Amino acid sequence: MKDNNCFYCEDGQKRHELMYEVCKMDLCTLYVLRNQKYRGRMVLKFNDHVPDISALTEDQNRRFFGELRKVAAALMSLYHPDKINYAIYGDLVPHLHVHIVPKYKGGPEWGGPFVDGGEAKILDDAQLEEIAKTMRAELKKGEAK
Ligand SMILES: [Zn+2]
Repeated sequence: MKDNNCFYCEDGQKRHELMYEVCKMDLCTLYVLRNQKYRGRMVLKFNDHVPDISALTEDQNRRFFGELRKVAAALMSLYHPDKINYAIYGDLVPHLHVHIVPKYKGGPEWGGPFVDGGEAKILDDAQLEEIAKTMRAELKKGEAK
């Protein structure tokens, strides 16, 4: 299921400008945001062009949240955030994806919703690959449990 007008389906230039692929999971693909204003910020994309969680089957729902839980556990153990914020919007990009945003006491927007604006911290491919590499290893450790 793909939509030609969707940058998540297209998986081309626009997606590449915003985020860097960490790994493919069973139902999802994990990306690290180029803007690491929130250290460890990622996006978990459902691979099929599904507009909303209400469109998932019971089994897909269970597996989708299972993958989200694995990512969250890996982020907790790597970055030790004080909290992880999760957001599913999709008003303008109706392809199911979750923003996974580690938050830190004393860091940006602690105690409030995360925002895309403000001071950006853009990483290059080598720095993003470092993050991706440690995430892949951490996710693999989680599988062994
Ligand atoms: Zn799509």
